[in-house]
Amino acid sequence: MFESLKNLLKHFTGSKEATSAEPDTSTQASTAPTPAPAPAPAPSESFSDQYITLAKFNLGLGSIGPDNRNDVDPKTVNEMYQAIAAGLFNIPVSGKVPEICVDGRTNKDGSRFSAPCAAGGTLSIVYGGDLGSGAAVDVNEIQLTAQIINTLKEKGHSTGVHGDDHSSCGCGACAKAPTIYQHISERINDIASLVSQLGINVTDSEKESIVQQANNRLSQAGFFAEDRASVVQAAQDSGALYEELVGKHNELGIALNTKPGTTVDRSAIRAKYGPQYDVFVVDAWAFGNAAKDINASGNEADEQRIAKAITLQNVATASILGHGSLRIVPIA
Ligand SMILES: [Zn+2]
Repeated sequence: MFESLKNLLKHFTGSKEATSAEPDTSTQASTAPTPAPAPAPAPSESFSDQYITLAKFNLGLGSIGPDNRNDVDPKTVNEMYQAIAAGLFNIPVSGKVPEICVDGRTNKDGSRFSAPCAAGGTLSIVYGGDLGSGAAVDVNEIQLTAQIINTLKEKGHSTGVHGDDHSSCGCGACAKAPTIYQHISERINDIASLVSQLGINVTDSEKESIVQQANNRLSQAGFFAEDRASVVQAAQDSGALYEELVGKHNELGIALNTKPGTTVDRSAIRAKYGPQYDVFVVDAWAFGNAAKDINASGNEADEQRIAKAITLQNVATASILGHGSLRIVPIA
């Protein structure tokens, strides 16, 4: 599945590059009168239309995104997108499944654990596994979290979650998990349409099964914990590593990484462009590995559906937290 994603992304970015209509700033600069202030300044560069936005799929209900920022230079943002797409910030990781959150922020010392990323860290596997398995077993979210973490530990994987320095539950994927389930239920076609543009086809029966499971959980009394931070705590109690991220959300795009064995180095991006230049990091190559290792039935169709549900959970989280102007920057 993710091989096809990789090929499609290559094709997608290649064809877009050919039709890119970036203003030629070098020409503008050389023809401008030298010392006098320009009477009609050229419109400032806008954020690149080379990459697909959440808005293109009617997604992006949140506020995080370039259009809501006045502290960044669009030209620099576009350069950053290009450099990320070229894989210049990819660094090796040893983990094989998502362990830390896509969150663009860092720990107090400016670092992150070096590990594959998905929305909520290990909780992405909990929610994606739940939505994709279609098993309406009468457990709650906390029990499910402990179960998945134990399964992953048995397979030799590290697990992780996070909070931040100012919220009761600083992980949006966890804090808003019920809203994200609701979003998947209500907007499955928009979300699947985005995913299909990335080369992953969610079939009608898969959509039906995932929506059914989302609805089951939304109507199951007590499935979602009232105290959202208790889910992060439950993960830690089961052995998940904990990161305390600091500061506010400055993500300007979603780095969609399909290079196996790598993630994107957030600290290096800041070092190059400035401390306010962050991106969400989605290590999509690791989703299939997670689906394989938590699939209780061993059945191939179940494994595929779980991998797709993890993908949908990541897109839905981005759509709930992110603004329509967030670009998806593929790394193929
Ligand atoms: Zn998070």
